Amino acid sequence: MSASMDNRSASASQLAHSGVGADVCADRALRRCLACRSRADKRDLLRFAVLDGVLLFDLRSRVQSRGYYVCANRSCLSKVWKGKLAHAVSAEVDCGILLQDIDHYIDVELCEALWRRYREIFLSGAKSSALLTRVEQVEGAAIRNELKAYVLATDAGRATRQKYVQNARRKGVNCYGLLSKDVIGRLLGCGPRSVLGWRDGALFCQFESLELKLTRLTGVASAVSQMDSMKPGDETRE
Ligand SMILES: [Zn+2]
Repeated sequence: MSASMDNRSASASQLAHSGVGADVCADRALRRCLACRSRADKRDLLRFAVLDGVLLFDLRSRVQSRGYYVCANRSCLSKVWKGKLAHAVSAEVDCGILLQDIDHYIDVELCEALWRRYREIFLSGAKSSALLTRVEQVEGAAIRNELKAYVLATDAGRATRQKYVQNARRKGVNCYGLLSKDVIGRLLGCGPRSVLGWRDGALFCQFESLELKLTRLTGVASAVSQMDSMKPGDETRE
């Protein structure tokens, strides 16, 4: 894993645990990572569980059996993959997934499942109006202090990014987004979209958790981290 991915993970984590986003979700039980032993909100960790003798990635935390928690990063997953995790479950299961190469497993299975769920959350959010999809709705909600986070397309223009990142800082909310304008548009069945906005609620909590995990596991740079990596002088240039 590259050092830059580590740095990006740290900045995404700090982002999520600062400002208004930090107290959005009521259920913030802590769990310990099997690899590094640090405690974290269980929503920010990956949960594995055994069902009918098979070890599963429990994406939605719905498997009613003991959960094994690991930080959503390659370092902790690699450390624990054929060691502590295998040891923890070996009495119970044939550890089929543990025999796989960890990077392959992260890229092909973990991330695919997370991306699929991430896209589903966009759709559910738009259907229930928890995710505001028109810029005038987003700005209206921001004025009424109803916004929990902005979502910016990864290829939003520099002026757009600058405007909404500054708005977010002023309002003390977060900025997220790992999809391009066209992908958001196709997903929601509308034209390309640069800016969306989340209202508070369970869907937003799920979205935030998925965004963090995907950022840490894939190293995809959101429009915000692109802003963060700009030099101070860059902000004034168009
Ligand atoms: Zn860990």
